[in-house]
Amino acid sequence: MDARQAPERRIVGFHRDAEGHWVAELDCGHGRHVRHEPPFRVRAWTQTAEGRARMLGVRLACRECLDGEGGG
Ligand SMILES: [Zn+2]
Repeated sequence: MDARQAPERRIVGFHRDAEGHWVAELDCGHGRHVRHEPPFRVRAWTQTAEGRARMLGVRLACRECLDGEGGG
């Protein structure tokens, strides 16, 4: 149970981390991993520039904002 809702942030870009996993850059300044690890996490769209471009502007819940702002 989580009474608080993670705020939704828009994807403004992407970069790869040191291990080569894709990280969505959110408009709040946080990053969120969008790993492609089949069969557990299938995000084939991360594997092409076209697929990533389609995700720009899409909203993701940012748990870092939830934890960082007024958390306590
Ligand atoms: Zn955030």
